[in-house]
Amino acid sequence: MGYRLVLSSLVCLIALGGCAAMRHACGGPAAYAPAAAYNAAAERNLAFSPFGRAEQGWAVYEPAIAREARTACPADSPGFARAVARWQGLARLVPHGGVDPATFSAMKADWQQRRPFVRLRAASVCPAPPAEADLVTLPAADSWRGAVVRLRPGAAAALEAMIAAARREVPAAGADPELLAAFSGFRGPDYDAARCVAEGNCDGIVRASCSAHRTGLAVDLALGAAPGFAVDSSADANRLWQTSTPAYRWLLANAGRFGFVNYAFEPWHWEWTGEGRR
Ligand SMILES: [Zn+2]
Repeated sequence: MGYRLVLSSLVCLIALGGCAAMRHACGGPAAYAPAAAYNAAAERNLAFSPFGRAEQGWAVYEPAIAREARTACPADSPGFARAVARWQGLARLVPHGGVDPATFSAMKADWQQRRPFVRLRAASVCPAPPAEADLVTLPAADSWRGAVVRLRPGAAAALEAMIAAARREVPAAGADPELLAAFSGFRGPDYDAARCVAEGNCDGIVRASCSAHRTGLAVDLALGAAPGFAVDSSADANRLWQTSTPAYRWLLANAGRFGFVNYAFEPWHWEWTGEGRR
């Protein structure tokens, strides 16, 4: 046994919990080759409407899917398909390994259920906004381009800790003070209603009638934008750009430690779950 093999064995033992996991991590087993071929095409071409708007492919959501399936393998690999199959089995779906509309729908349901706001809305409850006197304003260093961003105190403290951790752990965030800075937090119902009328920007009926931002627990974080797009552009090209960034991938892996969950359709939108748990 050569030195390199010994060394790599040691590394994979530490990093992955076993060398078998490394050998089969992404390239096999061959039984998942057809599912890998399906995923390679579906990632770019699957026609579906996961959030009520027609989309082509699920590449935007690939990092979130991979995290859910607990794999670091690329979406077109048998290892990814095997991880998806394992997830499908746990979710009581047919464990074929392909991310088809039924699989995506089940994952999306899990993601949405982690949002207390969504659970309330499912029960036809629109939470009352907090008293504005009870909100705190984020420090300028955590706010995007002079934005005045207000949140409930617990959410603000958790967010400040999360941004500080990201700046330590993500080189791009450490180097760019705008990255992960907050550009929107609490928005009172009156503000959203006025914006709806003034701009015709009602985000369907949802924002005008009951936005998550009324809770003081939701925050929009700057991830940058694809050339020509705004930080809150929901254009697919922009969202794909954003979910490919190290900052977004760090959030996916770490935001839960700080109590934040993502609305998968909007990579920038995060909600704090540490308050109002029922
Ligand atoms: Zn938002």
